[in-house]
Formats: sequence, structure tokens, C-alpha cells
Amino acid sequence: DAAINRIAAGEVVERPASAVKELVENAVDAGARRITVEYADGGKTLIRVTDDGCGIAPDDLPLALSRHATSKIDGTDLLNIHTFGFRGEALPSLGAVGRLTITSRAAGQGGAEVTVSGGKMGAVKPAALNSGTVVTLRDLFFATPARLKFMRTDRAEAQTIGDVVKRLAMAEPFVQIVLRDVSGDGAGREVFRADAEQGELFDALHGRLARVLGREFADNSLRIDAEREGLHLTGFAALPTYSRGSAVAQYLFVNGRPVRDKLLTGALRGAYFDFLSRDRHPAAALFLDCDPTLVDVNVHPAKSEVRFRDPGLARGLIVSALRHALANAGH
Ligand code: ADP
Ligand code: MG
Repeated sequence: DAAINRIAAGEVVERPASAVKELVENAVDAGARRITVEYADGGKTLIRVTDDGCGIAPDDLPLALSRHATSKIDGTDLLNIHTFGFRGEALPSLGAVGRLTITSRAAGQGGAEVTVSGGKMGAVKPAALNSGTVVTLRDLFFATPARLKFMRTDRAEAQTIGDVVKRLAMAEPFVQIVLRDVSGDGAGREVFRADAEQGELFDALHGRLARVLGREFADNSLRIDAEREGLHLTGFAALPTYSRGSAVAQYLFVNGRPVRDKLLTGALRGAYFDFLSRDRHPAAALFLDCDPTLVDVNVHPAKSEVRFRDPGLARGLIVSALRHALANAGH
């Protein structure tokens, strides 16, 4: 079982940033309003995610660390997914390739803690904690030396952690997200902070994008809001006069999930066709929401790919919504 966990872990956890992604998604799924991510040495020696979410009851702690145990779906409805997590793979995988400690407290329960190291689970012990969950992952890949060799410099891994955290922060404007580098003396250096945005969704989103992508983008982008056959598109797309130079800032979220997909690049090229001589990579942060049955997120364990039942519909909606917004703005 430990061996199976280590093999599966390779698919879920490729590097420190993928561990961070899984842990932050778990915190969001747990309804957290505040999430703090700390790392040391590019996440290689330490990753710690603290949240104020619903917590885990002591009796459920061993279950949370067991393979394919998820509290989020009952297993019969893999197509109808509303949470980030649904495979029950992340925690057992992390416990298989590193030293994972979960300290948690659910409402009306005592705090408890359990450690899994190299796939071996210790006993659940009482622990002092007010509420929420702290997940600490030390020595990632100590149990799989071959993987260790594929890690890049601390700086590069830290950069990727930052990218992942910012990407997740874009999709959760009402959640406070803080990223801290606690390498060395542990005093900690704040790398990124986004306080919870206030107001209506669009205002909150605008504020959050200003935080993550810069005020310049937020002040030079068009509000997108369109719907077609059950697909709902919201977000912001850059005015043709705005350019980030060579930096590509094209973000697509499907049902709140950060997605890497050629669909967006292609749709943006289509929508901005007449302006591409000025900026080959128009910036945009777009959120596509639809009935979960219209999209398959179960393509890869790391879940950054999606498969639309009708890709042409999604592309068409993006192109027409952006063209419409550009035309309205006089372009
Ligand atoms: P999944 O997210 O696919 O369900 P995970 O292995 O990531 O699988 O987590 C297993 C289970 O542990 C979750 O279903 C959830 O019940 C619990 N869990 C994990 N992280 C947290 C957290 N931060 N707060 C509350 N519960 C959590
Ligand atoms: Mg999860």
C-alpha cells in the first residue's frame, strides 16, 4: 500500500508547488476565510498551510489520510463535482513521499494531530488548537530520492509556489491569502498578501485582480459578463491599448478551478485578431462556470486540464463575449 501511494504520489505531487496547490484547495473546500501558506527552502524542507475552515474531527483524521477516502463525494457521481477535491488522493500521497502532520479541530470537538511519514501513520494524539487546520509537510520526497533529483533551485520552486498561490487567490476574492517564506531563522518574509475583498462579486474580483495582476491591468481591462447555453463567462480582459510586454497573463478558471488549456489562448487570439500586431498575448482573467456535467475535470490527477463536452461552445462564447466588450468600448 505504501508503494502504491508513492507511485500515485508522483502523479499528484510533482513538486512543492503541487503540494501547495492541493493543500490550499483543501482549505478552500473546508470553507476557510483565511489561509496562510508558509514554506522554507523553496518548499523542499517545509510547507505549512494554516486555515480557519471546518476542521477534521479526531475520529476522521486517519480516514482523511487513507487512499481514496474523500468526504466530498460518495463515489457514485464523479461527473457532478462542486469541490476542488474528489479523489481522496492528496493527503495519502503527501504522507507517502514526505513527513506530513495534520493538526485540526472541528466545531464541538477537541483538537487532534496525526503524522504520516514515508507512508507510515502514527497514532492520533490530542493537540491544542482553537479551530481550523494546520497541515505541515516536511522533507518532501525524502522517501523518493529519485524525485528529489528533479527539483529545481529553491528560488525556482519558490517562484512556482508563488504562481500557484496567486492563481488560486484570483479565484477566491473573498478569502484572505497570505504567503510567507520562513527559510533560515524562521522570522518569515511576506511574499504575497491578498486581504479578503469586500462588496459584490465583480468589485471583489476587480480588487483581487488588481492585487494579483497589478492595478495597471485592473484599470485597463473590460468587464466580461456573458452567457450561452448554460455556460456563464465572467471576468476581465485587457483593452487592446494595454500590454504587459512579453509577460503572458492569460488565466482561465473553470468552475473555480485554475485550468491550463490551449482553448483560452486560441479564443483570445480569435477575439483580439485585429489587435495582435500590438500585443500578441492579450491579458485576461476569465471565469467560466457551468453545470459540472458539461465539463470533465477528471482527466488528470493534478486536475489542471479539463475536457468540455462541447469545446466549440466554450470557445465561441469567449470569442463573442470579448469581441462584444471590445466593440462596446469603441475598438
Ligand atoms: P480530497 O480533497 O480529494 O477529498 P484529500 O486527500 O485532499 O482528498 O483530503 C482528504 C479529506 O481530508 C478531505 O475529503 C477532507 O474531508 C479532509 N481534509 C483535508 N484537508 C482539510 C482541511 N484543510 N480542512 C478540513 N478537512 C480537510
Ligand atoms: Mg484535496
